Amino acid sequence: MAGLSVSVILFLAIFDEFYTPFNMKIFVVYAILVVFISITASAQPLVSPQKEITLDYIQQHYSDTSYTNKTMDSTFLWQIRGVMLYYPKLAHTHIKFRLKDTPIPLTARPRVWAIFQRPKHRQYLITISTKTSPRFEPLLLKNLSFNAQVGVIGHEMSHIADFQQRRGLYFIKLAFMHISKKYMDNFENKTDRRCIQHGLGYQLLSWSKEVREKLKIAQWRGIKGDEKDTRERYMSPESIMKWINY
Ligand SMILES: [Zn+2]
Repeated sequence: MAGLSVSVILFLAIFDEFYTPFNMKIFVVYAILVVFISITASAQPLVSPQKEITLDYIQQHYSDTSYTNKTMDSTFLWQIRGVMLYYPKLAHTHIKFRLKDTPIPLTARPRVWAIFQRPKHRQYLITISTKTSPRFEPLLLKNLSFNAQVGVIGHEMSHIADFQQRRGLYFIKLAFMHISKKYMDNFENKTDRRCIQHGLGYQLLSWSKEVREKLKIAQWRGIKGDEKDTRERYMSPESIMKWINY
């Protein structure tokens, strides 16, 4: 936006200096050009989807000054920063990443007060499990490949991107809707789709493949999910590829 303001001031200054009815057409063309260039210049820096995202790529594109209000220790610092590159709208959202012994490998939720707060003031908590049951131990973030780590954090960030579009009352509804398998299938599937649309499709693909290979299952429905239930909740590798190429 700074680029736009400077250009408007410049435009007004030049307009004042040279205005005559004869020059009007030139000024109209100039104005359109200035606004076009400013909008292009003030857009967020874009990162492109990467088949294998690397630490190098993240370090090249990440700038500390572009992101605020994130609390985390150094454990998964660059994976989280890598994800942030693909969620520029969450650059200043308050998010705390914490490590904890808890059964579910990764969760994202708003803080309780979020129900009463505008999106700008809300705080979110992403919990990364450090210890779970032996069956799900291979799914802990620390046991995944770098690409899959970025993918699954990207999924959690996709929840927050969605929450930021919602009114506070939505969180109460969501708490109740956890009892509906159909609602939650749709909720998680849409979250994966949003993650792909943000540019992290290949990272989500790595996660989706790893979870299926490690647990030898066809569909991943969360740690509380019935493994015989073959409905898709989190996207399968095939579905992810379909959305990447959509
Ligand atoms: Zn989820």
